[in-house]
Amino acid sequence: MPDLYTPGATLASYCPTCKASLAHTITAVADGKTAEVTCTTCGSRHPFKHPADAPKARASRAKQRTGTPPSVAASWEARMAAASGEEQVYTMAATYCVGDIVLHEQFGKGVVLKLSTKKCTVLFQNKERLMASANEVLQELDASRHTYRPTTHQA
Ligand SMILES: [Zn+2]
Repeated sequence: MPDLYTPGATLASYCPTCKASLAHTITAVADGKTAEVTCTTCGSRHPFKHPADAPKARASRAKQRTGTPPSVAASWEARMAAASGEEQVYTMAATYCVGDIVLHEQFGKGVVLKLSTKKCTVLFQNKERLMASANEVLQELDASRHTYRPTTHQA
């Protein structure tokens, strides 16, 4: 195993310059351990840092907690790309289909995700909103009412 750590050998290390775990060439070895490595991407020499110790993951996760949840924007982008429906200006008097793209003067572009009576759920870039529409009762909604209630016998 100490044979792995010889000058000139290649190993994965975290590079503080590239801010990523990349291939490095060992340039100095101390006590059978890697002491200094050279990044094969940017060529900078720095002490060996195990990829698992990379500060990257923790920092970016903390950053994501503030502002618009990235999941909403990401799913909006994905839905917009996949949307096959017509692009139309949003009005309360219109009926929509799942997958339709609506243009709202305030919220921008959105994708219809779900239909319900006189309403539809539209995913806009920053938020999912329940919007008024002229949609009629759907069979799907009726199905949810068929909840089984066992009759309890009372003495
Ligand atoms: Zn580098």
